[in-house]
Amino acid sequence: MSSPAPKRALVIGAGIAGLASAVRLAAQGWKVIVYESAAEPGGKLREAFQDGFRFDLGPSLFTMPELVVKLHDVAARSPVVDPRKMPPPFAFEKLDRSTHYFWEDGVQLTAWADRTSFRNEVQSKLNIDGQLVEDHLNHSHQIFEATRRIFMEQSLHERPKNRLSDLKKAGRNLFRLPFLGSLHRLNRKRLREPHLVQLFDRYATYNGSDPYRAPAMMHIIPHLEHGIGTFFPKGGMAAITQHVVNLCLALGVEFHFNQPVKRIAHIKGKVQGVKLETASGGERVLGDVVISNADIHPTYRQLLPDLTPPEKTLSQERSTSGVVFYWGIRGTHAPLHLHNILFSKDYRREFDNIREKGHPGDDPTVYINITSKLQSSDAPAGCENWFVMINVGARPDEIEALIPSLRETVLKKIERTLGVNIKSLIANETILTPRGIEAQTSSWQGALYGASSNSPMAAFLRHRNRSTQLEGLYFCGGSVHPGGGIPLCLLSAHITSDLIEQFS
Ligand code: FAD
Repeated sequence: MSSPAPKRALVIGAGIAGLASAVRLAAQGWKVIVYESAAEPGGKLREAFQDGFRFDLGPSLFTMPELVVKLHDVAARSPVVDPRKMPPPFAFEKLDRSTHYFWEDGVQLTAWADRTSFRNEVQSKLNIDGQLVEDHLNHSHQIFEATRRIFMEQSLHERPKNRLSDLKKAGRNLFRLPFLGSLHRLNRKRLREPHLVQLFDRYATYNGSDPYRAPAMMHIIPHLEHGIGTFFPKGGMAAITQHVVNLCLALGVEFHFNQPVKRIAHIKGKVQGVKLETASGGERVLGDVVISNADIHPTYRQLLPDLTPPEKTLSQERSTSGVVFYWGIRGTHAPLHLHNILFSKDYRREFDNIREKGHPGDDPTVYINITSKLQSSDAPAGCENWFVMINVGARPDEIEALIPSLRETVLKKIERTLGVNIKSLIANETILTPRGIEAQTSSWQGALYGASSNSPMAAFLRHRNRSTQLEGLYFCGGSVHPGGGIPLCLLSAHITSDLIEQFS
């Protein structure tokens, strides 16, 4: 007797969450087919080459690499994997420091991975008791441990198996959780020293939020960088995408690039499959489940125009977007390392400007990422590959016209802070804008992380991972639970594939 044909899962989008979902489902024995509008996988997590320089186009900061390692293990243990096609283990290194911070008043501070070194650094550079930082980071760790199961590792919308024990565990730490006030208020109250407050306020931008409005619970984030650590994948950030694609191939996942999905097909409350955009006007492909890795906005507005959209969820404030200058730079620049932040003098004003005008004003915080500091092949000899980013509002129409002046503002900020005029050192340039992010990845208004976390209710208002309107429809990626950024996208793929296992 022949075994039944495997169930078919159709994944819309080859962003990191779509790829990770494909690995998990294929490892469970599903026939998985991925449709991607772009010519290559990765969505925001891709790379580009420019006159001998390599650039990671989107994410540059990598935390929780164990999630990629776990994905590798899931594939390796699967009975359907072709061991000959399995890639070697995912290679990455732990960094000895996360970020170099620079202020215009001359203060420079290195966030060493080693806790004692960081404590000593803060003590000597800012002339305050290092124990303050130690206590603050311990608090972040407690919040992380108390909330990770509930908010990050399972659906908030389904009845999970162990919610009672998770709640009991959180309950023991409940009195430690900062339920009230903003992240900034918490940092100011506990740290007081303005440079240090700004440094810890910055963690709100990890998911595109505003430290003056984001809830204090976001103090969970520093633990990622200072407790778990920051990492660099061998080959650069795009190696994450490549590794997960290789796992997919070892599991027999089928890819179709340059293939946009036009509609999610459904009948009588159940998905049937997808309708592809083709030269002949559209081809229908049948599937038992459909997983949308596309942003939740186009998923409803374009792929499901006949369904009632969840307007409350869709109307949530967007996370920030970014303007990125990819500069091939002549010369090497000693005070800079892999991750560098040049802080604005008035952080509150910067975020007020972003909220009110869509741009940070004349004194932005500038982030510079230079992978050639670690991986010399990323730039020609004697040169560096600068990824230079500022936060802007997810307002593509307004930002586009401002790019030339924002470029000048960034160059001036670098000169004021580092004392170097790099304008004449730029050998080549590409610019990514909110409009470009939207065009390349369909992310609504170019938001980097879906909805912002500027409200205490944000976590609960993110879209769920399983549709309640259509049986067989699931969602993963940065615009749905648990949120944006590589680690959360990988976790969303885990949650979604578990739900599919449970409900299909
Ligand atoms: P996306 O990357 O959004 O990809 C979705 C995919 O779906 C795209 O490839 C798109 O083409 C495809 N698609 C959409 N609609 C269709 C359709 N109809 N048919 C077929 N395909 C479709 N995160 C970090 O962790 N660290 C960082 O340092 C960091 N920095 C960032 C800097 C920048 C400039 C950007 C842009 C992002 C950054 N992020 C960072 C966020 C991170 O990149 C994202 O949260 C994550 O990559 C999103 O992955 P995703 O799975 O949601 O899919």
